[in-house]
Amino acid sequence: MALLQISEPGQSTAPHQHRLAAGIDLGTTNSLVATIKSGLASVLPDDQGEVIFPSVVRYGKDGVAAIGKAARDQASEDPYNTISSVKRLIGLSAEDITESSAGMMFKLEKTDSSVPRIATDAGAKTAIEVSADILRALRTRAELSLGGELTGVVVTVPAYFDDTQRQATKDAAKLAGLNVYRLVNEPTAAAIAYGLDRADADSTIAVYDLGGGTFDISILKLEKGVFEVLSTAGDTALGGDDIDNAIVDWVVAQHGVEVGGNAGLQRTLLDQARVVKHALSTNDQAQFSIQHGELSINSTVSLETFNSLVAELIQNTLKSCRNALRQAKLKKNQIDNVVMVGGSTRVPAVRAAVSEFFEREVLTDINPDEVVAIGAALQADVLAGNKPDSDMLLLDVIPLSLGIETHGGLVEQIIPRNTTIPAARAQEFTTYKDGQTAMALHVVQGERDLVRDCRSLGRFELRGFNPVVAGQARIQVTFQVDADGLLTVSAVERDSGVQAEVQIKPSYGLRDSEIESMIRDSMTNAQQDVAARMLQEQRVEAERAVEALDAAMAKDADEFLDENEKQKIVDAREAVVQSSTATDADSIKSALRVLEKVSEVYVSRRMNASIGEAMKGKTIDSYEKQDSPT
Ligand code: ADP
Ligand code: MG
Repeated sequence: MALLQISEPGQSTAPHQHRLAAGIDLGTTNSLVATIKSGLASVLPDDQGEVIFPSVVRYGKDGVAAIGKAARDQASEDPYNTISSVKRLIGLSAEDITESSAGMMFKLEKTDSSVPRIATDAGAKTAIEVSADILRALRTRAELSLGGELTGVVVTVPAYFDDTQRQATKDAAKLAGLNVYRLVNEPTAAAIAYGLDRADADSTIAVYDLGGGTFDISILKLEKGVFEVLSTAGDTALGGDDIDNAIVDWVVAQHGVEVGGNAGLQRTLLDQARVVKHALSTNDQAQFSIQHGELSINSTVSLETFNSLVAELIQNTLKSCRNALRQAKLKKNQIDNVVMVGGSTRVPAVRAAVSEFFEREVLTDINPDEVVAIGAALQADVLAGNKPDSDMLLLDVIPLSLGIETHGGLVEQIIPRNTTIPAARAQEFTTYKDGQTAMALHVVQGERDLVRDCRSLGRFELRGFNPVVAGQARIQVTFQVDADGLLTVSAVERDSGVQAEVQIKPSYGLRDSEIESMIRDSMTNAQQDVAARMLQEQRVEAERAVEALDAAMAKDADEFLDENEKQKIVDAREAVVQSSTATDADSIKSALRVLEKVSEVYVSRRMNASIGEAMKGKTIDSYEKQDSPT
């Protein structure tokens, strides 16, 4: 995702009017709100001076019974009405929710609606509604502190959030009465907080974010003031909670305590573990002491013990770092800055390990749990028009994949969804038939494998190139999406230089709800699509084999084959033709294999006769797998 620095005319209106704007980090575990006051970024505290707002809501009969710290601290009293980690659910459909995405205490209502609802005493709540309650509390905090209504906010989301999750987050903000200027990726916000967007030189930045229940590593590239996410990796079930659990397990083992299904005791142990963990980020040892009914535990946890408890977790995060680097095709030494984000990066062993891994000092000057909110506040300030001299920040990605129809009604994706714009991608195609001198190009949009399930964006033709045998022509098709989302598709035949192009506005006429349902469909139908694609590919394969064989046989079957051999091939060919009408890919495949086998002798004799060049690409076993638009 890019932040394009383009000034929006008309944005910088009344020069002296300061608009109230805020940045909100809507986190899985904790949320924060920050603003820019007299040019300085600051996180806004509650009346107790607490800046961190636990993302927890407890519902009662009359609605929200407690929120934030109060709700978190009472969790053990009313676990089923206390909703935490709701961010894990936002934008997901009921089918998306698996055991692994759960790990949450609350109960989901059984409804026929595709949006999951959580059963509470205040009625069934969607993740959007729960998030809206959190955002409303942050809005109140900001408005009380700033003494006026917020003009607009920037809300941050994980870089890997898809359109539906982003849309759902926006909806939650709307429901909370907030005007969302923009959603910004969390790692991008963190980089902005460090001023990396204002650096003179282009750079590559790794953002390591270890929070309460999730770990994200993002590699960003900053080029000419534009941020691009090169890769993201991580683990949605790895974070500070695991450290708490590891401490509890250790203590429990030390004392031979049976926790069993005692939720209250479990909660008390975990709360104490968190206290110990926090203490150990500045001390060499800490006291684990609880009193729960008859049970009393008093145990010293040394930093050494603690470090051994977190070693594996840290190693797991480094695996993801390796993964992200590999995806971005970068080496460690190509990373210019490493930004540390998330409360759990306060653990000294985490900092040390990440620093050692990237072989450089990591950025920790800004409070790791505030850095995202601060970056968001800086963005919001600009977008509110409070910095008329600075450039505006625009943010956009391609909402649905763009591709081209290939032979057999299949889609070849050229630019996958969520690619940053501007974007350009090229791919080479070839012809399907001998002597072909024109090619029809059909541009489609969508996530499905078959053209008929996608949206047609436009067609154009490339005409007048030199006739060659099938598979020999090289047609380069280029997709280019400019900063306004305008798509231009061009094609050029390498040999003759013939070219053609068409301009399309891809998102035109697509409502958000349609985009959502198309993405949903592609998820629900993924399996069906794979089967349909395989069948279609086999059919194309069969068609190709038969055509090539026919062309060859017409030319020289009599020269190389006796009647008996010829008959065998003809029979096998017939079987392939018959099998093509079948609906399972496997039977076509096996018929093809038989045809290949019986024509081996023919193929090798032709080769031996070194008919070579002219016939290249025509022997049944020498097909290259290439996409070929009709
Ligand atoms: P998220 O982004 O997932 O909402 P945060 O970035 O706020 O979460 O991180 C919350 C986690 O950070 C919690 O597990 C918390 O215990 C942990 N944390 C906060 N401060 C410290 C500290 N000083 N030492 C170790 N862990 C800490
Ligand atoms: Mg966070």
